Amino acid sequence: MTSEFYIYNTLSRKKEKFEPLNPPFVGLYSCGPTVYGDAHLGHARQAITFDVLYRTLMFLKYKVRYVRNITDVGHLVDDADEGEDKIQKKARLDSLEPMEVVQYFMNRYQDNMKDLNVLPPSIEPRASGHIIEQQELIKKILDAGYAYEAGGSVYFDVERYNKDHHYGILSGRKIEDLVSNTRTLDGQSEKRNPLDFSLWKKADPSHLMRWSSPWSEGYPGWHLECSAMSTKYLGMQFDIHGGGLDLLFPHHECEIAQNVAGYGLPSVKYWMHNNMITINGQKMGRSLNNFILLDQFFSGEHKLLEQAYSPMTIRFFILQAHYRSTLDFSNEALKGAEKGLGRLMDAMTQLEKISAGATSTMDVEALVNHCREALLDDIHTTKLIGHLLTGVTQINNLAVGSLSINKEDLEKLRALYKEMVYQVLGLLPAEENSGNTQITDNLMEMIISLRNEAKEGKDYKTADRIRNELTRLGITLKDHKEGTDWEVN
Ligand code: ZN
Repeated sequence: MTSEFYIYNTLSRKKEKFEPLNPPFVGLYSCGPTVYGDAHLGHARQAITFDVLYRTLMFLKYKVRYVRNITDVGHLVDDADEGEDKIQKKARLDSLEPMEVVQYFMNRYQDNMKDLNVLPPSIEPRASGHIIEQQELIKKILDAGYAYEAGGSVYFDVERYNKDHHYGILSGRKIEDLVSNTRTLDGQSEKRNPLDFSLWKKADPSHLMRWSSPWSEGYPGWHLECSAMSTKYLGMQFDIHGGGLDLLFPHHECEIAQNVAGYGLPSVKYWMHNNMITINGQKMGRSLNNFILLDQFFSGEHKLLEQAYSPMTIRFFILQAHYRSTLDFSNEALKGAEKGLGRLMDAMTQLEKISAGATSTMDVEALVNHCREALLDDIHTTKLIGHLLTGVTQINNLAVGSLSINKEDLEKLRALYKEMVYQVLGLLPAEENSGNTQITDNLMEMIISLRNEAKEGKDYKTADRIRNELTRLGITLKDHKEGTDWEVN
């Protein structure tokens, strides 16, 4: 059985065998949210992608330190170092302290992650708590000659850096193309070159979040925090850095440049990026008005949603696509995921009830190998779920007796599904997931029996009232010879 784990490294642009720098320890970093608004499907995809990577590494018996940061300072509205800090803007609009905004959205993000059964990281550092470390790194970059001070701010000198190193190594972009595609400086700018990015920004008088520094009272640039915090907690060199494809440039490219400039070496061995989510084939964006928040998925309250979808349905939907493919949202796709998850969870229950026979006519070993191969092939959750669902058909055949299984194989099969479904894919057992569904079923049974009693007692007024009230709530009753069914419209 293979235990070689292959992952796609964005840096080398190919699948590589995973070999940790310091086994059995693995350092994993992924960029966390900027906490100025609620989490949407894009946040869920990134968090779930690296959650499954984290779970897979632990499944492979590595000792993982997983760091996922919280960006609570310095992320400007315009990523070209202009505009207002996103958190400050929200604070100003709502008359709040910036840290109130941060706390509020951080709590909500963590609640959403808990709903999605995303494991909390080992360390969740905040940029505002690491100003000293960021200033230390700025000093190193200045000392090395790859940054300059201008008007109390400090900028990274991209052209100077590119003379000695390679700016664009991760994204494959060339500095000449970047220069010609960047708007020219307007004469007001302190930057020597439009590609330069801020390491430290002097705060203007209206800026709320500010710290003292050798250069000015100000705040750090956004890219800096990930360089400073990843190396603080994972060491000068660590194994895996993850993030969404939207962060690859400029954020991760700048991170590499900062680390090489400040510490003299690139810190990350494997860069991994998850692809984006589209909504009905369109790019997702606030300006396109097709932005669906996670809470809206859970409640069903959004004009693009035909119904509510449980957090586990969202998780299953995301995992049905490989993390490097784009994933298109549609109600059809989500309903399909809901059905698929239901089949899988029903089989999990079924599997506990099956009893072993004397012989096996099911090839459990092959299924175990297929699942493991899919997982170790760059976490191919699409193939993995495919194999698990093929197995569901076999489990159902075992239940009706058209296949048989011996005791040893049955134990292997149960272990496989528990490991892959609960431990690795992080899907929650059906009973935990469908607690509300069970309550609804019981309530409906009670209401239907009250209506039947009313009819039997010839109290048609009450019976009709129950039916009409339910219709008003969007529930239709259907009377058959065998009894009464109900469905939500
Ligand atoms: Zn980052």
